[in-house]
Amino acid sequence: MSTHASVTRMEKIVSLCKRRGFIFQSSEIYGGLNGFWDYGPLGAELKRNVKELWWKSMTRMRDDIVGLEATIIMHPKVWKASGHVDTFSDPMSTCRACKKLVRSDQVWEMLETVPWADAIRAAAPEGKPDAAALLKWATGKGQRIAPNLALVQQPAPILARLAERAAEAEASVHTLFQLLCTVSAEGPLATPCPHCGGELTEPRPFNLMFKTYVGPAATEEDVAYLRPETAQAIFVQFKNVVETSRVKVPFGICQIGKAFRNEVTPRNFTFRSREFEQMELEFFIKPDEVVEVQTGHLAKLAPGEVPSTPQPDWGWELWHKYWVEERFRWYESVGLKRSSLEEYWQKPDELAHYARATVDILYKFPFGTQELEGIAARGNFDLTQHQTHSGKSMEYFDQEAAVKYVPHVIEPSAGVDRLILALLCEAFEEEEVTDEKGNKEVRTILRFSPRVAPIKVGIFPLLKNKPPLVAKALEIQNLLRPLMNVFYDDSGAIGRRYRRQDEAGTPFCVTVDFETIGENGPENEGTVTLRKRDAMTQERVRIADLPALLLAQIS
Ligand code: ATP
Repeated sequence: MSTHASVTRMEKIVSLCKRRGFIFQSSEIYGGLNGFWDYGPLGAELKRNVKELWWKSMTRMRDDIVGLEATIIMHPKVWKASGHVDTFSDPMSTCRACKKLVRSDQVWEMLETVPWADAIRAAAPEGKPDAAALLKWATGKGQRIAPNLALVQQPAPILARLAERAAEAEASVHTLFQLLCTVSAEGPLATPCPHCGGELTEPRPFNLMFKTYVGPAATEEDVAYLRPETAQAIFVQFKNVVETSRVKVPFGICQIGKAFRNEVTPRNFTFRSREFEQMELEFFIKPDEVVEVQTGHLAKLAPGEVPSTPQPDWGWELWHKYWVEERFRWYESVGLKRSSLEEYWQKPDELAHYARATVDILYKFPFGTQELEGIAARGNFDLTQHQTHSGKSMEYFDQEAAVKYVPHVIEPSAGVDRLILALLCEAFEEEEVTDEKGNKEVRTILRFSPRVAPIKVGIFPLLKNKPPLVAKALEIQNLLRPLMNVFYDDSGAIGRRYRRQDEAGTPFCVTVDFETIGENGPENEGTVTLRKRDAMTQERVRIADLPALLLAQIS
């Protein structure tokens, strides 16, 4: 549940994102488009760094994964085979009164944060409804904030019904809300609209894929979809990759790219968007039977043991656990603390029918602990589906085992935008500091890991009207800019310039002062001060040492 403090924290993060150019509303000058976001100059750098680190860790740092870059629009049969045409839907309800659409499975979660629902909860302390308080609210403020709630529209009969069914209302706060929102005295209880308190219709499935037409005729025959995930292209190109690269099962194919979902209720800033990016890996493994025949057994883990170095006797369970661990390690390497993450094993009734196990990596966002990535053991469902629908064999001939099979797969699937949001939430901090004149002020800092920080180093001449200082600072800019993203700033007091970089999450600042140019004697000539964002310490370092010193921190 979101508390006031976490709402405020989130508001501050959203406002910093706009103010400093991390994230803007898409098409803002036209009033924005719900569920679409743009990354500004700092956000674009941050996102690029994150994708680059993921790509590098998956492909260049390993021998067993290769990359792919496929199109967003694919043959519509892909989505028939994958099941998306028939089943990629969310339950949706419409409010009978205000006509707004809501995702039926998110209604109660939304009701946790709306003011009118707070008022009802306040009028029913410990689940015991106080009729007088409810009546007062319904004939007063309720008229404004929940105008379509049955209680507000006809308080007397609704309160009478509540009195009759008090035991049910006390037993479940959901029933209390339902009793207060349902207009008719007969029939089943409705669920309230979070926006206005009106009755919601029964849930019905709503397909999340965006439709478009390929070619000018635009008939039903030309319908195509914007991909709702990047993964399917990997399955579809599986054979081509096997035939053209020197990969052998177990191996993976990974891809970063845009995905589109017509989410019913985009919310929580960029967390649930309609256009977003994914970083997905399909890691193909041998079926357990093949491993068993080849090695004579399947490896088992001792209690508490985590799989670290891949072995030939690993079955799907160990591979799955291995990828869960790998992904946790990677998140830590980009600056998310393990204590900010949670591991959630989906329960058997939550699993997709083909999935053998799915682990969600959750991040503790200010608005709740929510999914960053899902790691699913999907058997050989996807390849088999494409084999059936395309009529092309997806079998792989395993030379070592001398058998043919359709490989099984482990799929770590992450959202770039959700990770960016998590990194911003993790990094955001405010602290009170006292300036040189003794004034207290709030210092806003983004404590990004230097590896992801959009700007790696700020470069400042102490004074902008001293040409030798400026010339030296520009020289340092030219020295460092081919190696990393730098920011030259000569305006305002040096303290202000540090603060601006703190807010941008810049881990280092270099200042060129009179010592640098030898005005205070020769011993510090050719050195600058290097200020570290987190320790707020300053040390003198030689300009010649800067490239190696900084590169060691950011790579
Ligand atoms: P959710 O249950 O939150 O809708 P999901 O389980 O449908 O997510 P997947 O289909 O497993 O998500 O997609 C993999 C990843 O893609 C998610 O973990 C998430 O990081 C990202 N993702 C999915 N939908 C969105 C979205 N609407 N906006 C931003 N990122 C998304």
